[in-house]
Amino acid sequence: MESLKAGKIPRTATGPIAVVGDGPVGLLTACLLARHHPVCRIGEGREGARPGTDPRLYALSATSLNLLERLGIYSELAPARCRVFSALEIWIHRHRSRLRFSAEDIGGGLLGATVWARDLLPVLESRIQTAGIIRWEGHPDQIERAEDGWRLTGNGKEGVFPLLIVAEGGNSRLREREGIPLDIHDYGESAVTGWCVPEREGGDVLRQVFTPWGPLGLLPVPGGGLSFVWSMPNPIARNWLMRKPEEWAALIEEASEGFYGRIQLPEAPHAFPLRRQVARRYVTGRFALVGDAAHVVHPFAGQGLNLGFLDAGVLAGRLARTLCRSGPVSWDAALLAYDRNRRSANLRFLAGLEALRLFLRGRDPLGWRDQALAVLARHRLLRRPWVAVAAGHGSRRLLREGTPVRVA
Ligand SMILES: Cc1cc2nc3c(=O)[nH]c(=O)nc-3n(C[C@H](O)[C@H](O)[C@H](O)COP(=O)(O)OP(=O)(O)OC[C@H]3O[C@@H](n4cnc5c(N)ncnc54)[C@H](O)[C@@H]3O)c2cc1C
Repeated sequence: MESLKAGKIPRTATGPIAVVGDGPVGLLTACLLARHHPVCRIGEGREGARPGTDPRLYALSATSLNLLERLGIYSELAPARCRVFSALEIWIHRHRSRLRFSAEDIGGGLLGATVWARDLLPVLESRIQTAGIIRWEGHPDQIERAEDGWRLTGNGKEGVFPLLIVAEGGNSRLREREGIPLDIHDYGESAVTGWCVPEREGGDVLRQVFTPWGPLGLLPVPGGGLSFVWSMPNPIARNWLMRKPEEWAALIEEASEGFYGRIQLPEAPHAFPLRRQVARRYVTGRFALVGDAAHVVHPFAGQGLNLGFLDAGVLAGRLARTLCRSGPVSWDAALLAYDRNRRSANLRFLAGLEALRLFLRGRDPLGWRDQALAVLARHRLLRRPWVAVAAGHGSRRLLREGTPVRVA
């Protein structure tokens, strides 16, 4: 590590792993890997992430919280900067039946917790500092393939890294430069998100209303209030974004059928264009994609970051096990196993998510959907698999590294 700190990286296969991307997945991946191997971040133009500019509130599953807790992050955030939730309620606008998926369906505990991006990123950054992960200033164009991995040249430095992990988000330039093909579907929709203050708190429950304009997610916020994520066709989003906050408040009141009483919107909402995007390969040689750089999903179920955290946990776990057994010589096998496991798991998840989205938002002239929801509402056994997915339990076996940490 001494030579690393001096800015010179030894030209051996055991040099530091390079992670590119300042978002939550890149930061978590770097921290998890640094427990087993030297890690270096490569970034451009700015020192670390700019958390204050991200208006998103993340709903993190219990499995994501467990991953964060491996680094003591959940304990640091909770309770002031995390709001736990133990149920998820779904209904169709103006339909009477409501479906509640509760942690009690799977024996209690919590389903997850919400946390602002602006609170999560600084804590991840502080773990980066304590892990001694240094940051190299570098543009993606300065990173080139080399005989023994990747070489970064520029700014008077040269470094060689045996493995490059890319967490640049949906518009990843390194993924594009490597020519990894993408399957893209433009939804023609935007997710409008903001923060509001309701007259009545709705408890520790996430709510999702399928309105005629698109699904509206209402998430309890740490410290009080609600965050909303409303996906809607682009023309409607463009039109509505010109409205005043009080008009937005009235729209949310109407869409949530007065459940929260009067609503106030202290600030104007933000819009994110929506697309589904899947990389056909996550790994090529000593190059691996994680998080949104590998897959972008519709935010109606609040699962994009949870999938990215699973990528980080599985990749770090596979590489750590390989390093313990045989050293970096068998990294290629570990990377291929990561590619196989995560790509197929994410594709299955995505297919399920799309089927659910279409089932809940489509028309229901024969009333079958209402009947299916009523059957689910009556039978806990049928709800269990859905609750397990929401809590991320199905993915636990993929994270075999170490003893699982229980968050309460
Ligand atoms: C409205 C909305 C609500 C959402 N809610 C949820 C939710 O409740 N739960 C959930 O699980 N998911 C949610 N998601 C999805 C979630 O936001 C993403 O899946 C998640 O942010 C992906 O993280 P990431 O680190 O992979 O990518 P990003 O968050 O896109 O981060 C990548 C970062 O890397 C930076 N970068 C790019 N290139 C470089 C470079 N060369 N050097 C340095 N930095 C670089 C980018 O500027 C960016 O800051 C939501 C999405 C939206 C749009």
